[in-house]
Amino acid sequence: MQLAASGVLGSQISKVALSAIAEPPRSLANLTSDLKRQGISVILPGDPGYDIARSVWDRRVDKKPAAILGCASVAHIQEALRFCAKERLPIAIRGGGHGFSGHSTIDGGLLIDLAAMYEVKLDVPNRTVTVGPGVRTGYLLGITTSKDLAPVTTTDNHIGAALFAGQGYLSPLYGNMCDNVSRLEVVLADGRLITVSAEEHPDLF
Ligand SMILES: Cc1cc2nc3c(=O)[nH]c(=O)nc-3n(C[C@H](O)[C@H](O)[C@H](O)COP(=O)(O)OP(=O)(O)OC[C@H]3O[C@@H](n4cnc5c(N)ncnc54)[C@H](O)[C@@H]3O)c2cc1C
Repeated sequence: MQLAASGVLGSQISKVALSAIAEPPRSLANLTSDLKRQGISVILPGDPGYDIARSVWDRRVDKKPAAILGCASVAHIQEALRFCAKERLPIAIRGGGHGFSGHSTIDGGLLIDLAAMYEVKLDVPNRTVTVGPGVRTGYLLGITTSKDLAPVTTTDNHIGAALFAGQGYLSPLYGNMCDNVSRLEVVLADGRLITVSAEEHPDLF
């Protein structure tokens, strides 16, 4: 009985040791190599440009993300979110980086940077514009004013346009930027892409 018991214990210990050798802990560089293959820019501590890439407008905020994932498409965002969920890593999302709270960066987690998604589609006949989550207000104005049109934006030109909180010079006449949004494409935390408007998912609008 006693021998059998120590035999079981011994084989359990061996199993743990073997599995530790077969699956050594992977570094974030290894873990994120799949993301790189899919075109997501990955900047890790020590990489050239890391300190610039992690900086936000408020220089009092000095956080050091474990990795900065530069997404250039909805598919990239979905992949980055799946990765964060799988690896159980905390995330921060950065639009224009002008938030006062410092919530658009993170210590030790993954920063999803949307700066590369700065596409603007202007529909002059319908007087509407579609913007990516990396668009800044000055860039947006530069495009719309070339057609004598202007959205309500913030008074500062470097703020992310995507969240549409903006209160600017046109607000007394037309309300805030958020009052003028007609439709949003939203990637949920589980990676699903949904459209949000007064008709679709009105609870999120
Ligand atoms: C110098 C200065 C001038 C300002 N002037 C004005 C003004 O005139 N009018 C005005 O209304 N406001 C003004 N603000 C405030 C500004 O609009 C807000 O701080 C706004 O939240 C900044 O947005 P951002 O995308 O640049 O910031 P970020 O720091 O990138 O984001 C702010 C927050 O939103 C989250 N977030 C950003 N993008 C997304 C996304 N696509 N999906 C999910 N979460 C996201 C971030 O995680 C963070 O928590 C000013 C701020 C500064 C620093």
